[in-house]
Amino acid sequence: LQKQFNQAQKMEAVGRLAGGVAHDINNKLSIIMGYADLLKLQPNPLSDNQTHYLEEMQKAANHSCEIVRQLLAFSRSDVISPRTVNINAIIADTCKGLGRLIGEDIRFEFRPAEDIWPALLDPTQIDQIIMNLAVNARDAMPDGGLFSIETGNASLDEAACQGIASARAGDYVRLSVGDTGCGMDGETLGHIFEPFFTTKEVGKGTGLGLATIFGIVSRNKGFITVHSEVGFGTTFNIFFPRMAREGTGSEPPGDERRAAPG
Ligand code: ADP
Repeated sequence: LQKQFNQAQKMEAVGRLAGGVAHDINNKLSIIMGYADLLKLQPNPLSDNQTHYLEEMQKAANHSCEIVRQLLAFSRSDVISPRTVNINAIIADTCKGLGRLIGEDIRFEFRPAEDIWPALLDPTQIDQIIMNLAVNARDAMPDGGLFSIETGNASLDEAACQGIASARAGDYVRLSVGDTGCGMDGETLGHIFEPFFTTKEVGKGTGLGLATIFGIVSRNKGFITVHSEVGFGTTFNIFFPRMAREGTGSEPPGDERRAAPG
């Protein structure tokens, strides 16, 4: 419980920080990038060394932009417009741009469930979840592999929820995203949802991808389970409450439901 409390506090602090400073940093970064572009356009050609320095500066500025983008995405929690959605349709749309992201060595499969139940979500949230998981899957499979997305309807009883923190019996729409990559050990798994936790080298990871997903899923009263085996791969199962239709007697799970790390 203590761990979850710390997690919530950290997320709130990061969210506040992000909202406060990200825009200002973005403005300054635009100035840096603008002047760098201008330098490159100078009539006197730069020496090889100067060009190299300039390109390193541009790389660093681009990476900083990416961090700011993720920070803003992380703090964007309250400006969403949820509506009743068919997640299959949203995923199909998101997947159009996936090939370029994961590259040619990674095979991609999408297995949508027939008659998927509706969920109450902002479509951009699904997009963000898929994109963040796809980047991680790509990084976990430098030599290629399989990246797969599957959806399903899941009626969970108390027994099925045993051992999954914060999961409650109910009807859920399941989104499973898997890879055949490097996998994670238990120590890593224990930290993956913490903001700024990353095992990637400096300049590659921000540690905000899974924390952002955690935030989205908790705010939608869903939960996450992760299965990972070193050397074999990882699967994230994300459960969103089924959107209850009037008169079906199927109620979405209660307020206290929260995403569960691990
Ligand atoms: P980042 O990708 O910037 O490091 P994330 O929050 O998305 O931040 O991920 C945190 C860490 O979780 C990663 O650095 C990596 O160690 C681990 N991780 C996440 N997804 C996977 C995956 N599919 N396979 C192996 N490790 C993963």
